[in-house]
Amino acid sequence: MSQETADRSLDFVFKSPSPAIKIEFQGGEPLLNFPIIRYVVEKAKERNREYGKDLQFVITTNMSLLTDEVLAFCLAHDIHLSTSLDGPEDLHNRNRPRPGRNGHQLTVEGIKKAQAVLGRDKVGALMTTTEASLSRVREIIDMYLALGIDGIFLRPLSPYGFAIKNRQAEKYNVDRWFEFYKEGLDYVLEINRQGHLFVELYASLIINKIFSPFGTGYVDLQSPSGMAISAIVYNYDGDIYAADEARMLAEMGEKKFRLGNVYQDNYEDVMTSDILLDTLEATLAESAPMCNDCGFLPYCGTDPVYHYATQKDAVGHKAFSGFCSKNMKIFRHIFTLLQDDPEARKILLSWVRP
Ligand code: SF4
Repeated sequence: MSQETADRSLDFVFKSPSPAIKIEFQGGEPLLNFPIIRYVVEKAKERNREYGKDLQFVITTNMSLLTDEVLAFCLAHDIHLSTSLDGPEDLHNRNRPRPGRNGHQLTVEGIKKAQAVLGRDKVGALMTTTEASLSRVREIIDMYLALGIDGIFLRPLSPYGFAIKNRQAEKYNVDRWFEFYKEGLDYVLEINRQGHLFVELYASLIINKIFSPFGTGYVDLQSPSGMAISAIVYNYDGDIYAADEARMLAEMGEKKFRLGNVYQDNYEDVMTSDILLDTLEATLAESAPMCNDCGFLPYCGTDPVYHYATQKDAVGHKAFSGFCSKNMKIFRHIFTLLQDDPEARKILLSWVRP
């Protein structure tokens, strides 16, 4: 991204009426262009003197380019780091091949170094479930525990990007993934029973949706869709997308959810564009077939990019939807735990944010 594109993107960012803004740098690998990160952070903070918003920054990085200079900058500007960690070394390197086959080593070293400089709470990790992960959920969680990370987000593959290129997304179905998830959640509860606070983040989002009056801000569990409301993506070329998944879909040649470009459009045009308003209207779960009479509706949401990618329709037929099937299984499991297992209920309730 050039400085001019960054400036124009910041013009859009500060037009947002939200009192809290999180700017997240994603790639590829954003640290390949550290000067532009530096530029955006400094410019954003400078501009924010006028707006007084709660401004936060996150760099999503594979840690391979994490230098002392980068860490010192992150420390000075309270920047969080987020990385990908798929579990034990062989699994991570198999999922994320790179020259030298040392991706896991670099990630783990980077996490430890960043934790030492920034603090453990400033360094997060996300995992992706490939077919090879399915029988190894305990080892994956153990890797997170060993690094002192206090939670894990057990996520299935999304039907975009590398999951499509490597045909990984076709290699397991929702039923198999749910077995993986259930085993993982059971293990997380077991860890908590032993007195170690460790959270499964998707369950935590759902528990908070059930028991807390506060929004989670999680894009896929909102009605209408959280696209462009909770998150918006400014691409290196100035294109604006409704969500990161929308950008990934565009990389596959489908620009359905491209909202405009920072050089050609203004904020008002983008936020009132037909594609955005039509999608938001269509994704009101309360009026979507099947969702409208589903008992889980208050806790669920909608994912127009997923449904468009899998069914060529932003609403999607929920009877054939992996999104719906996954959520329904998880909701049922969590409600069963809440009802039948007092110890699990106590642990799950401890995840509700005050
Ligand atoms: S579980 Fe399925 S039917 Fe129920 S609200 Fe969610 S997407 Fe709609």
